[in-house]
Amino acid sequence: MSKQDENVCVVKGWQEGPVIDESTLKDDLTRHFYYSLGRDKVGESQLYLYHALALTIRDRLVARCRETNQQIKQEKRRKTAYLSLEFLMGRALGNAVLNLDLDEQVSSALQEYCTSIETVAEAEHDAGLGNGGLGRLAACFLDSCASLALPVVGYGIRYEYGMFNQSLKNGHQIEQPDNWLREGHPWELAAPEQAKRVKFFGHVQSYTDKHGREHRQWIGCQDVLAVPYDVPIPGYKNDIVNTLRLWKSEATDEFNLTEFNAGSYSEAVAQKNLAEQITMVLYPNDSSENGKELRLRQQYFLSSASIQDIVSQWVEQYGEDFSDFANHHVFQLNDTHPSIAVAELMRILVDDYELDWDNAWQITTSTMAYTNHTLLPEALEKWSVPLFAKLLPRILEIIYEINARFLAQVAQHWPGDANKQRTLSLIEEGDVPQIRMAYLAIVGSYSVNGVAALHTQLLKEGLFKEFYALWPNKFNNKTNGVTPRRWLAHCNPALSQLITEKIGDKWISDFATISQLRRYYDDKNFHTQWQAVKRENKQRLVDLVKARCDVDFDVNMMFDVQVKRIHEYKRQLLNVLHVIHLYDRIRRGDTQNLVPRCVLLGGKAAPGYYMAKKIIKLINNVAEVVNKDPLAAPYLRVAFLPNYNVTAMETICPATDLSEQVSTAGKEASGTGNMKFMMNGALTIGTLDGANIEIRDAVGADNFFLFGAQAHEIDDIKSRYNPTNLIEQNSDLKNVMQLLESGQFNLFEPSLFDDIVNAIKSPHDPWLVAHDFESYIKAQKQVELAYTDQTHWTQMSILNTAASGIFSSDRTISQYSEDIWHLTPLTISETDLQATKSHATKSTD
Ligand SMILES: *Cc1c(COP(=O)(O)O)cnc(C)c1O
Repeated sequence: MSKQDENVCVVKGWQEGPVIDESTLKDDLTRHFYYSLGRDKVGESQLYLYHALALTIRDRLVARCRETNQQIKQEKRRKTAYLSLEFLMGRALGNAVLNLDLDEQVSSALQEYCTSIETVAEAEHDAGLGNGGLGRLAACFLDSCASLALPVVGYGIRYEYGMFNQSLKNGHQIEQPDNWLREGHPWELAAPEQAKRVKFFGHVQSYTDKHGREHRQWIGCQDVLAVPYDVPIPGYKNDIVNTLRLWKSEATDEFNLTEFNAGSYSEAVAQKNLAEQITMVLYPNDSSENGKELRLRQQYFLSSASIQDIVSQWVEQYGEDFSDFANHHVFQLNDTHPSIAVAELMRILVDDYELDWDNAWQITTSTMAYTNHTLLPEALEKWSVPLFAKLLPRILEIIYEINARFLAQVAQHWPGDANKQRTLSLIEEGDVPQIRMAYLAIVGSYSVNGVAALHTQLLKEGLFKEFYALWPNKFNNKTNGVTPRRWLAHCNPALSQLITEKIGDKWISDFATISQLRRYYDDKNFHTQWQAVKRENKQRLVDLVKARCDVDFDVNMMFDVQVKRIHEYKRQLLNVLHVIHLYDRIRRGDTQNLVPRCVLLGGKAAPGYYMAKKIIKLINNVAEVVNKDPLAAPYLRVAFLPNYNVTAMETICPATDLSEQVSTAGKEASGTGNMKFMMNGALTIGTLDGANIEIRDAVGADNFFLFGAQAHEIDDIKSRYNPTNLIEQNSDLKNVMQLLESGQFNLFEPSLFDDIVNAIKSPHDPWLVAHDFESYIKAQKQVELAYTDQTHWTQMSILNTAASGIFSSDRTISQYSEDIWHLTPLTISETDLQATKSHATKSTD
């Protein structure tokens, strides 16, 4: 060790850069296995080998992470903090091996243990710290930020229990807690010395400072400690390693003083539980808020800890002068969940650093940016004012002040319009007044973005039209994307290899170049290879479906897949009606032109979502009837895959022929599952909704199966909606409804599906299932026709992959950086630049 300055003692070795090189990986693995973990034989379970390998790779990540952070700090880089209550990361091992280019070294090291990366990787538990699309988007964004060498840090919560595990009992969903940390999480590094204190409860007082200025002070609080755990996020072959900082709640050291002194030891320890509850569990509601106090605590806990972290780093480096703060920082809010950060930054600047309001507001509104993820009214977060008053009294005062000043602006724009005052107020009046979190986010941000072209247009025209009138320049679109590393290179190695043989491997870091595949769309030899790869991937899914569902899928049949959260707007029900229709045809002997299919559905329902759970039960009952009918076996197999998660999707999307994206138009903000399937060569049957529209534009209408009402037609259709008539007039739908109502799928469970039948028949069905049935069936017939001509299908499949370039999250993140964040990429070291260049020029063709 060498003494550098008064307080800091730098360990040698560091300064010379990472001491770790290729030759040592095998030794490091052995060292971690024998010494870090204290094992001497592998045995049945690969768990310890997985842990040893993770630690070996983490060493390499830590070294690079330090260098990345040093560059950010030394060069005083502007950076983005991506605040999200969810990060649906999945497994880390395969992705790290890919991004660090360690495949050969790891394979050779594992040979000594008589195993493979694939086998060892199976021991890793998914990090399921998210519900679905929104959380997975955050994970894809982190991969893209690191791969584009952008200084971005993710901030989230280290839930003790992630997304619940789903199993089935008699076709019903059962939820089990996801104790994902039980066997340890080898990727993370705790930094308890950087813990922050987050305030709850207490009250607010005024005081006058030495300059005679009046201030507010939030005191008498029950503080909770936020302890950071850092997860390294490697870029693709660029030696950049960013950080995902996840906060865990703990009791403060003095939590128990008063109780101890009163002799109540047990009560004191119980108090500790209260603090630790905050990060105990992820709320399993996708696209619906539920107003629970603990959830608000989570939101404030994340927002406060993260803002404090950034501000304390600032003060450490620049002192208490904030005049340049906004030039160095952006906070991107992933939906309204962390929107309380707007008020928290104001509190810290005004109360803790005594900035005047206008100055603080200028800084806040130049650093906050908000992404909206949904138009569904049930998802728009509101919090009761009394709850805020109790839990976060000072934050409530600040929100009131923001609102008062905002309403003055509204009055200027719409003079004398009391209605505008009421409808735009951050506080919704009523028996219990509510805080509208989306409005707080919009008012406090300099950028508001939607996640697909249609979604952004609907935000501007509908939900937020007054805000758009006030601030047209705040609004912008950033169509979602997914990372081609995980969702093609890693999850589909056979197709990746084939693609690389043809166009080189540049596509992995520059996904726009995937368009070069178009040259091969008519190449007979390439078709054969493409089909062989799909078959191989289908076999992997056959094995998974057999193991998890005990249903026999057949690689010779079309694989028709809908996997996503179960929600009425996503219309899994419409898919089931098509399955019942096919079954009805089979039973009638109407099998001409019927293309044999395997239909796979999967997804979790929020535990309190009654209809979604009914739909799961219906899928399972239909599957049971179809699968045991020998008449159906040659034409139709149906399975519900339990516990759909990131790892399952890595087997599913490479094997899919037909991707079902059938939401009611105007309801799916973007979708990202649709993009994963497209990249892997699936064709889409879908509505003009979310990013489906952009997918169809990119690949061409001839290579997409379109159906259903359009968003602009929905209101009109609803005004004269009569599903009973539609059922009467369409014999296919009539037959399907008869089968459903006759109890064919619930022989021993009478009236089980009455609510589903009634929902379809209701003139108020918001999802218009009966309306879109006819055009859906027609589109499915087109699918069959196309699939019958395998050459044509293969051409369309190739064209879909070739046109998926714009759906890389690298494109999305480049646009965030260009338009919102204004970041400059970090410098990649010379050796890595050369490596990247040689990769780029290695391409044959
Ligand atoms: C991609 C993904 C989603 C999002 O799917 P959508 O079809 O866009 O709703 C949800 N869950 C998992 C596990 C995913 O990988």
